[in-house]
Amino acid sequence: MFTLAIHGGAGTLSPSEMTPEKEAAYRRGLEDALQAGLAVLSGNGSALDAVEKAVNSLEDNELFNAGRGAALTSDGRQEMDASIMCGRTGKAGAVAGVKNVRNPITLSRLVMEKTDYIFLLGDGAEEFAREQQLPFEPDAYYITEFRKEELRKAQQKPAGVGKGTVGAVALDRHGNLAAATSTGGTTNKRYGRVGDSPIIGAGTYADNRIGAISCTGDGEYFIRLVAAYDVACLMDYKGLSLAEACRTVIFDKLKPLGGEGGLIAVDPAGNAELVYHSEGMYRGWADERGRKEVAIFDR
Ligand code: ASP
Repeated sequence: MFTLAIHGGAGTLSPSEMTPEKEAAYRRGLEDALQAGLAVLSGNGSALDAVEKAVNSLEDNELFNAGRGAALTSDGRQEMDASIMCGRTGKAGAVAGVKNVRNPITLSRLVMEKTDYIFLLGDGAEEFAREQQLPFEPDAYYITEFRKEELRKAQQKPAGVGKGTVGAVALDRHGNLAAATSTGGTTNKRYGRVGDSPIIGAGTYADNRIGAISCTGDGEYFIRLVAAYDVACLMDYKGLSLAEACRTVIFDKLKPLGGEGGLIAVDPAGNAELVYHSEGMYRGWADERGRKEVAIFDR
């Protein structure tokens, strides 16, 4: 049995800005990412490979805020954050503030697998990416008209900054879980700002006994809540189901604090949850029984 869930961020276009053409393009992007992960899982591959491949697909798609098309900092550049965690080994890898690395999630995985560290930052992470011969892209590859316009709007009106992030969680046929999250962060962020996405326990968490979780939304709130780990703790220590734990974190904790966002999660039984408190969340899930869904707004 396998299950895969993905998100393309809780910072969606508002329903009024969403044309049928744009919606179709976003749905296609989500389908492609699901397909990339499902190809791994249906071939008996690992949850870790599945979440990496699903996130790679979203990173390469300029519609989503990660890799190509990542949100712009206040000085008009990209600083990308990512993390990955393996539920089988409990190992994790993360990078923050990286520029020009094509697939930050793959870099996180290499940090996990090829170093004794968990978290590499900025120049040091980029140097490691070069050593590992990961592809780099020029600034022009990342910067889209949409993100330039979003930055211009955000700079005129600092409230309501754009958001978005991509992520994936999976259970594979071997009973292993994994989670991955990759982002450009919030639009118009001050350079040097790091959100929850690369922080293990805040934006990403996986433990084979409990579940795998990837978050999106106002990073500062997710860090304060240690949100991904809190989902796992509520299940582990309090015996809540996956659905109860996800809803508690989003509706009883994030919402009262004033934060917006959502999360996706899977448990060892193959249940998937995609929960959000925001206008919408680009999302999708699928399992071995052939159930498959992508959605943006409707809860
Ligand atoms: N959580 C991300 C951050 O704060 C942004 C998002 O998911 O919308 O960097």
